Amino acid sequence: MLDFLGDLQRTHRCGELRASQSGQRAVLMGWVNRRRDLGNLIFVDVRDRTGMTQVVFNKERDPAIHEKASQLRSEYVVAVIGKVKQRTADTFNKSIPTGEVELTAEELRILNESKQPPFLPGDTILPNEEMRLKYRYIDLRRDAMQQNIELRHKVAIAIRSYLSSQGFFEIETPFMTRSTPEGARDYLVPSRVQPGSFYALPQSPQLFKQILMISGFDRYFQIVRCFRDEDLRADRQPEFTQIDLEMSYPQPEHVWEVVEGFLTAAFKAAGHEIKPQFPRMSYDQAIRLYGSDKPDMRLPAMTDVRAAFQAENLTTLAVSSSLPIVAIRIPKVGELSRKERDEIKPLFIAKGGAKLFEDFKRLEKNFPEAAAKIREQTTAEADDLIVVVAGDGKPAEHKSEGGVKPEVKQHDHAVYTAAGLLRLALAQKYADRHGAFKKTGDPAKDYRFLWVTDFPMFEWDEEGKRWAAAHHPFTSPHEHDMDNLESDPASVRALAYDVVLNGTELGSGSIRIHRQDIQSKIFHALGMTEDEARSRFGFFLEALEYGTPPHGGIALGLDRIVMILAGAESLREVIPFPKTARAVDLMVDAPTPVGRSQLKDLHIHVGDLGILMREAWLSRLPTEIKLTKKHRRVYQMSNGSRVGIPFAREIGGSWALSLPENQYNAIVLLCQTEAGGVMDFILPSAVFSPLWDDFSRDDEGRIELDVKRDGATIVLQPGEGPNIRIDGYLSKYDPLI
Ligand code: ASP
Repeated sequence: MLDFLGDLQRTHRCGELRASQSGQRAVLMGWVNRRRDLGNLIFVDVRDRTGMTQVVFNKERDPAIHEKASQLRSEYVVAVIGKVKQRTADTFNKSIPTGEVELTAEELRILNESKQPPFLPGDTILPNEEMRLKYRYIDLRRDAMQQNIELRHKVAIAIRSYLSSQGFFEIETPFMTRSTPEGARDYLVPSRVQPGSFYALPQSPQLFKQILMISGFDRYFQIVRCFRDEDLRADRQPEFTQIDLEMSYPQPEHVWEVVEGFLTAAFKAAGHEIKPQFPRMSYDQAIRLYGSDKPDMRLPAMTDVRAAFQAENLTTLAVSSSLPIVAIRIPKVGELSRKERDEIKPLFIAKGGAKLFEDFKRLEKNFPEAAAKIREQTTAEADDLIVVVAGDGKPAEHKSEGGVKPEVKQHDHAVYTAAGLLRLALAQKYADRHGAFKKTGDPAKDYRFLWVTDFPMFEWDEEGKRWAAAHHPFTSPHEHDMDNLESDPASVRALAYDVVLNGTELGSGSIRIHRQDIQSKIFHALGMTEDEARSRFGFFLEALEYGTPPHGGIALGLDRIVMILAGAESLREVIPFPKTARAVDLMVDAPTPVGRSQLKDLHIHVGDLGILMREAWLSRLPTEIKLTKKHRRVYQMSNGSRVGIPFAREIGGSWALSLPENQYNAIVLLCQTEAGGVMDFILPSAVFSPLWDDFSRDDEGRIELDVKRDGATIVLQPGEGPNIRIDGYLSKYDPLI
């Protein structure tokens, strides 16, 4: 029997009771975390966001309340009134802050019951991630998630108050806007009132923040959602949060100072004292020393060891004398067995003619002098692993149509980046041995920040055979390189910078172009015609002509920062309601197809409803469909179970399928296509009723069905065009991810 809260007021939080409150009366409200029934005594841990307290129900003291407590189950919501009592020293629970006390229950109200949850917040073994995301509200009750969300809150608040203290205004910019220039695919929103036109969800507030500078708000920031329709990885989400800022009249150093300031505040909020300034390194240096534009500095840099070799050594080794030779040193790996050396080879991915020498012992045997010099140059200890990467002497072909990108530089690059990737792969592989990724408690060692500066302005887009903006087209080139814009784009450096932490890019930004004539020149260098530039960014080019102050800024990924601070492996651990790698929200089941009438309102014409449905549900189809001898379909479900389709009935000119109420959650449609094939659709029950109503309104006349839902019976009337019939229902249908 459920109780009402009545006029009961919570007086204490479950994680806050201490021995000093002994004797006090407390009213706790929360979830039943665990119930232990010892006969005369029932112990219940009551939990809320702050932690939990043990509540004791004593049969001898109060049989009625003891009886009521025996009805409690995991995740019931309760209010308990009782007295705080210090436990005897031998019953202290040292693992929780409230472990010295318990609450002797005097009144219990069951405020709500709970179905048996698919997993419990207190479980030590986590269910699979699909389950966690589907029942996210249960997952979020877990301690680890509560802490991650709290951390995120603290970090965001610290950043906000730091930036506000530095004179930055938080200003909102629109979500329904037009395509922005970050270069990913846009998420589009169709306009109902402007047929055929679309808003784009912003990939970043880039143009708005620049316009805010033109508008006189000389220090802007926003913790803002951005949307990019890209292929997803563990550290990417279709919608993600940036700490976005822009300021007027800055040198790059001013932007860096602000970022260092708010990161210091954010890390402090998370309990880590980091100290600016962060080291700075040019892009070229980063490539040379780390083979990467986001160096992980927790391990030694690479060393250029070309000078260690004699010319004839290089000939014997068949390596190029004009390309770099770099040594990678990973400390404390110890001597490798032959098998271990073989395992290194597949980690080396050389694009463009780089070569690996993973057997340093052999190098030492054949070229003792060179090897000794390498040891000296890399300051290697006896148990350090050294591998050498060189150019293989056969310069690879590099096209540089449309520009005069220097060949050699390109080849140097190939060697450095191949070595850089190998360095990271070795670092991961031998993490246990070198121990450099383990947290030491010393923030200066645990969090290695870095500014990477002077990025190239353009990068060669092999597919489009043209130069593309390496950051975005509003980034200012270096003043000294301005003359090379047309003649030698590869050599032009940008006033662009990235902030990097432990090998992860936290954010990037730049000083912007503030003059319309230069902006036009850049568009031209990017191969954009005047007309194209005007049609895409005309409003912005015009704004630039109304007294635009010099300005610059940056954006950092909040999700990534919190992920690193939480020590989490995936962004999904720090985003309350994230999407899967296939951009699906499993809890609300989005995206979903929408009804035809809704599409009509939006002037979206869908030529073939069958194809639309097929695409929309393709990801939810069973992994395998087998026809048995009796032509009975057996669907192999994602969870490994098999579901047979019990029946399909034909009644006169229409088909009826009696669906046992509440026992199905999807139906299978078989649709005969015009080409004579048969397509299967599985429609989860949550979506098919709105679709039914729309079938009859297909103005293509391809599938004319008059479908009504009458209680649990669906009647289909075949019309012209392809036949559709219901083949059965699935009672255990579980959409695939
Ligand atoms: N809008 C850029 C981005 O999101 C950042 C910047 O240039 O400020 O990458």
